[in-house]
Amino acid sequence: MQLRIPGPTPCPPEVLQAMSKQMINHRGKEFEGILNSITTGLQQVFQTKGDVLTLTTSGTGGLEAAIVNTLSPGDKVLAVSIGVFGDRFVDIAKQFGVTVKYLSFEWGKAADPQAIHNALEADPQIKAVLITHNETSTGVTNNLKEIAPIVKGLEKLLIVDAVSSLGCIDLPVDDLRCDVVVTASQKGWMVPPGLAMVSMSDEAWKAHAHASIPRYYMDFTKAKDFLVKRGGQTPWTPVVSVYYALDVALGLMLHDGLANIFNRHARLAQMMREGVKTLGLSLFADENYASNTVTAVKADKKFNAAKLVQVLRDEYDVAIAGGQGKLKGEIIRIAHLGWVTDKDIEAVLQALAKALPRSLA
Ligand SMILES: *Cc1c(COP(=O)(O)O)cnc(C)c1O
Repeated sequence: MQLRIPGPTPCPPEVLQAMSKQMINHRGKEFEGILNSITTGLQQVFQTKGDVLTLTTSGTGGLEAAIVNTLSPGDKVLAVSIGVFGDRFVDIAKQFGVTVKYLSFEWGKAADPQAIHNALEADPQIKAVLITHNETSTGVTNNLKEIAPIVKGLEKLLIVDAVSSLGCIDLPVDDLRCDVVVTASQKGWMVPPGLAMVSMSDEAWKAHAHASIPRYYMDFTKAKDFLVKRGGQTPWTPVVSVYYALDVALGLMLHDGLANIFNRHARLAQMMREGVKTLGLSLFADENYASNTVTAVKADKKFNAAKLVQVLRDEYDVAIAGGQGKLKGEIIRIAHLGWVTDKDIEAVLQALAKALPRSLA
């Protein structure tokens, strides 16, 4: 099976092997060694000297943790949305009584940095900005290198959903002064689902000290105490097997090197975009901001999206995703993040070429 959905993504054999290891005491020396090794590895990939916490949950749990650990009911945030996951961040914030100023952009386009600047200038009460780095529902990557200096220049907390970009697309957390950055094991990390990883800057910790949204399981004070004071522990029973897997995957990633990983994702994404266009199809994303981890392709009236997903799955053993929300039926999405090679991209494009004539609108 060519698993080309935006998570879970395929895992290398070394990672799968690690998953089958016997259980250990999560309060013992061996787990301590694994968690400490993972934490150091994550700091390298996040490009931060700050704290990175691991939570037994999925990406959405990581987003919720980011909100409840840094904000209070009644706090005002600017939520920048360019798709389904940007909107999900809004929903989470609202559930916890945060006042959301919603700044959305046409799906398929990236957020306009100037509009973010204007919205922040217009309302000095805004405390934080919520933004998606890579919008998985539209295949668009926001230009954080341009947006982060605007947000930090105005001294707002910068809270980033990098679930489908971290470890694949360059996101230098400290250089960009991102305060909270969330990712998840099953996206670009070549690891099964089960872990969210969240970085916290010093400013984020200061906000945490005053943040009064109720929390228990996700409390970062507890997470940090167990990680640092007790040394290499998590407050609650962790998803031990996924920690084994992440430790091995991080070893592979750091051996490869971040520059190689980012370049590979850029190159394979380019190959995918060119291949799709060669088949006479159009990209959904504004090409200046097209994602290096997921490619969204417009159905236009050239193919039936649901049919194409089905034909690829049933007859060519290729799993891709359709559109989410209002994009259902409008696009297909092909993921190319984590453990992916030139051969995979070629195989998907070949299958796509054969399946297209059998999936007409
Ligand atoms: C997948 C994804 C999520 C949600 O992650 P889950 O692990 O499914 O909870 C959030 N944001 C983005 C950008 C994603 O791609």
